[in-house]
Amino acid sequence: MSAVGFFGGTFNPVHIGHLRAALDCLDALNLDQIALLPAASPPLKEAPLVAAEQRAEMLQLAVSGTAGLTVDCRELSRPGLSYTVDTLAELRSEYPKDTSITFVIGMDSLINLHQWHEWPRLFDLANIAIMARPGVSPTLDSDVKRAVESRTCLPDEIRSRPAGGVTFVDQPPLDVSSTAVRSALMRGKNVQFLLPEAVIEYIVTNKLYDSSNTDHRGGH
Ligand code: ATP
Repeated sequence: MSAVGFFGGTFNPVHIGHLRAALDCLDALNLDQIALLPAASPPLKEAPLVAAEQRAEMLQLAVSGTAGLTVDCRELSRPGLSYTVDTLAELRSEYPKDTSITFVIGMDSLINLHQWHEWPRLFDLANIAIMARPGVSPTLDSDVKRAVESRTCLPDEIRSRPAGGVTFVDQPPLDVSSTAVRSALMRGKNVQFLLPEAVIEYIVTNKLYDSSNTDHRGGH
């Protein structure tokens, strides 16, 4: 039986917090692979100024050469808002019934889960793995809390469940966010080591996030 993970996000831009979370999840849940899944049009965030295609290209650069990590661009070719429930329904229909499919989210996303389109259906379609997020304390909506508590299982049980399990993955905290990276770039700060070198080069070359006149690897 195979086991695959999908890690959704805006990735505007991808940073080491995302990449370490994906690798820690891959390892803790013993998955065959995790695909990073950029949202074309995230329902609960402002429309990102950087095009979905460019966010996806940065992801491709970020995972290139890393065993077990891939990028899945299916949401980019779907019109309208990028609802996770539609993506998981599509994935469920593509994989054999006994494949373990796990959707990975950060704790900040779990806190908002009750606002997600058709959120209770997510549990029918996949397992949910929740990553800790620095500074985010888990006060959950009561319906979400009940749903999570009744489905909680150990990380090593996920591989044998096609869907319906919820597990928590411990991760050494990395207090970095795309918001902080964007803000640093706009203020001309050095962002080296917060995101892969190839992604920094892409940002500078394409003049994203107001980065046109600063050397973000300069260290000054
Ligand atoms: P922004 O700052 O623009 O809101 P973000 O850094 O939170 O972006 P997203 O692309 O929105 O990044 O996040 C995608 C997923 O990655 C979410 O589930 C989020 O919780 C998780 N995530 C982001 N940063 C981290 C981090 N440092 N550690 C663990 N999980 C993270």
